[in-house]
Amino acid sequence: MSPEIRSQFPILEQTINGKPLVYFDNAATAQKPLAVLDASRAYYTELNSNVHRGVHYLSRKATDAHEHAREVVAAHFNAPHTHELIFTSGTTDGINLAADTLALSGRIKPGDRVLISGLEHHSNIVPWQMLCQQTGAELDVIPVTDSGEWDLSNIDSLITEKTKIIALNHVSNALGTINPVETVIPKAKAAGALVLLDGAQSAPHMKVDVQALGCDFYVFSGHKTYAPTGIGALWGKEEILNSLPPWRGGGEMIKEVTFEKTTYNDLPFKYEAGTPNIEGAISLAAALQWMQQVGLDTIANHEHELLVQATAAIQEIEGVKIYGTSEHKAGVLSFGIEGIHHYDLGTLIDNMGIAVRTGHHCCQPLMARFGITGTTRASFAIYNTAEEVDTFITALKKAAMMLR
Ligand SMILES: *Cc1c(COP(=O)(O)O)cnc(C)c1O
Repeated sequence: MSPEIRSQFPILEQTINGKPLVYFDNAATAQKPLAVLDASRAYYTELNSNVHRGVHYLSRKATDAHEHAREVVAAHFNAPHTHELIFTSGTTDGINLAADTLALSGRIKPGDRVLISGLEHHSNIVPWQMLCQQTGAELDVIPVTDSGEWDLSNIDSLITEKTKIIALNHVSNALGTINPVETVIPKAKAAGALVLLDGAQSAPHMKVDVQALGCDFYVFSGHKTYAPTGIGALWGKEEILNSLPPWRGGGEMIKEVTFEKTTYNDLPFKYEAGTPNIEGAISLAAALQWMQQVGLDTIANHEHELLVQATAAIQEIEGVKIYGTSEHKAGVLSFGIEGIHHYDLGTLIDNMGIAVRTGHHCCQPLMARFGITGTTRASFAIYNTAEEVDTFITALKKAAMMLR
């Protein structure tokens, strides 16, 4: 990673408790490069106006910029059509959109089945439990192995003609596992099930092509891809989105409203009720373009190098156990140290300027699978350095000594 990349993140220049900030909480949210901060500021200093309604100059310019952002985001994921890309407030919002409209559609019947995996984030569990409650469907779960991978030995009995939707984590936020979705998606298609991929952790770390994946929905959050919070997107296949009912009612999502009857707008506006996060969409496009410029492979390779370095070095610490030991991992190192609570460890290394996440990472069922309440998680981004990994390991050794 070149110093030019790091220098584009002003927030990283600060010190915490007199120590240079080491930001290893990227799986929770990534920092924003100047290209994104500039796009955000330029929107508010030059374009701010409501979209899709006004005839005046600024409204037209803001509308053009918002719709151009949609083109950029759709193209980034190789979506066949730009109007299949719905702006949301993030992954959680996108999954709820899909689950609620599927529940409302009447296509899920009592006794039908919904399949998720043991690696899911709460936001890809709870909306499906709510769908099951509303429809009488039942939830199945792909088990997780000791290495933090899907156990696919019984997958053919988990996917049947009763399975209507399969909602899967693409890359695990808690363990880093890159899941073999390419093995499961063809089985889902053969059984006639819809597939939603939770891309919250794949979008930041790898090239994603929704057509090559063959999924029906892909959702992600902007704030993990170097863009602001409050913006994300759901991509869905046109014919499926067209077959589903509208979700939130309001302005923008309608064609014509009378007190007797309302007709709904076409995609994507059918699913974008109310004034959208215009600046967010524009900044998201800027973030994805910035990632393209850096190079998605460059990002993935750099994070992988840091992961390999950290994984090797952490083994020198007595009593360390790594959770998630798959060969196929994004830049996430989740671990425990025997006899030390993750919260105490996180607090101590915070005093040394190091930001990591501790706890269940919104994956309580996964933590239960391993018989733990949480882990300490270091997660890497393109701006992190090998020196920071050294600082982190030294801090861990110091903290472990103090806490034992
Ligand atoms: C962060 C995350 C989510 C939730 O994303 P929000 O931005 O909080 O909506 C869902 N799934 C995974 C795998 C995540 O990492």
